[in-house]
Amino acid sequence: MTTQEFQALSPDTLAERLGPIDAIRDRLGDPKDWTMREVGDGNLNLVYIIDGPEGSVIVKQALPYVRLVGESWPLPLRRAFFEYNALKRQDERDPGAVPEIYYFDEDQAIIAMEFLSPHVILRKSLMEGKRHDGLADVLGRFCARTLFRGSDLSMPTAQRKADLALFAGNAELCDITENLVFSDPYFEAEMNRHTPQLEPIVAALRADSDLKIAAQHLKMAFANNAETMLHGDLHTGSVMVTDTETRVIDPEFATYGPMGFDIGMLIANFLMAYYAQPGHAEAEGARANYQNWILSVVEEIWGTFTAEFTHLWRTERTGILYQASLFEDQGDALASEQARIERLAAIWRDCLGFCGIEMHRRTLGLAHIAEYDEIADDAARAACEARGLMLGRALAVGRVNFTAMTEVTDLARRIN
Ligand code: ADP
Ligand code: MG
Ligand code: MG
Ligand code: MG
Repeated sequence: MTTQEFQALSPDTLAERLGPIDAIRDRLGDPKDWTMREVGDGNLNLVYIIDGPEGSVIVKQALPYVRLVGESWPLPLRRAFFEYNALKRQDERDPGAVPEIYYFDEDQAIIAMEFLSPHVILRKSLMEGKRHDGLADVLGRFCARTLFRGSDLSMPTAQRKADLALFAGNAELCDITENLVFSDPYFEAEMNRHTPQLEPIVAALRADSDLKIAAQHLKMAFANNAETMLHGDLHTGSVMVTDTETRVIDPEFATYGPMGFDIGMLIANFLMAYYAQPGHAEAEGARANYQNWILSVVEEIWGTFTAEFTHLWRTERTGILYQASLFEDQGDALASEQARIERLAAIWRDCLGFCGIEMHRRTLGLAHIAEYDEIADDAARAACEARGLMLGRALAVGRVNFTAMTEVTDLARRIN
């Protein structure tokens, strides 16, 4: 097969280009009757919904640049290859958690996948004050299963090493995380922006040696501790929900990194949604119960994560680490449990650190969150954001001192 020069899809060319592909046409029916709309609300890629007489399909295409910024910021098409490979592995490790893939074209950076409907992006739903049954369970389990099963705790080590090498190729996307998440918030980086009223807090954070050192320790962990295959961008904009169903999308930042990264980033986005609620409340105080629900989700995500991780530790430790031959097979299950508790404690500390840093970068860096951005009044927005910044600092710097998620949620409530 010859390599075709990359061409961005457009509504005019979608039917002509994708119509001949059996895997897509079989889902949709006759290309003559296809209609399409662009739905991409993300920062990086083109996303279309194609509706046909027999069904609908999502078509996601990487562009050779960052969609949010434009052609001045080139970004490799190869991220679609990493997204495809991550989706396949996530589906194996936690079946049903991610959209089914129908077709992948590496040269054109196109993934055709299951159209999740009537799902909406969780972030939007959190702004609207909606609750979702099973949300914490699915997310906690997804983290435990993908993180455990992508690591040397579970995988044949040759396969893990091959995957480590494969995902090391996603260097440009890692570079974005390394700069935007771990460094830019703490100096006057060119693409940063923040609400003007935050200026005194921003100055204090940038003068805070302990915080900057913590951020760099965490950056080192992200860049060097290749424990498992991460989703890499697991925020509430990468989760789609109905009242009762939760799915995960958009793992193009997949890379080998520390287990605490995904779960910490995820929890940070819930904590920011918690702080943003007054900016979206129908009347003052109207979201108080909903805020409690968000914090209960945070507690449950961690609870489910640890329960599932523990289950997998006890039943699926098939990799090269902490082998049963050293512990259970010698009648020493206690030592295996002690090792598990120590591993979970390390993940916990990382999780809180990454959580804190994520709360900073979404407020001070390039990529913000809609929950904050859509609060029109600067002063009202700054009041929400400031609380998130303070909690973020406490978590990043004080991460070794917390012993339970209820301590984190208590602190979240106390900061004002
Ligand atoms: P980006 O990498 O640019 O952030 P995403 O994969 O997050 O792109 O997709 C952008 C948007 O497209 C999502 O926020 C969601 O609204 C929609 N979308 C993406 N994948 C699906 C899907 N499988 N089903 C339904 N909608 C989707
Ligand atoms: Mg996205
Ligand atoms: Mg997005
Ligand atoms: Mg993305």
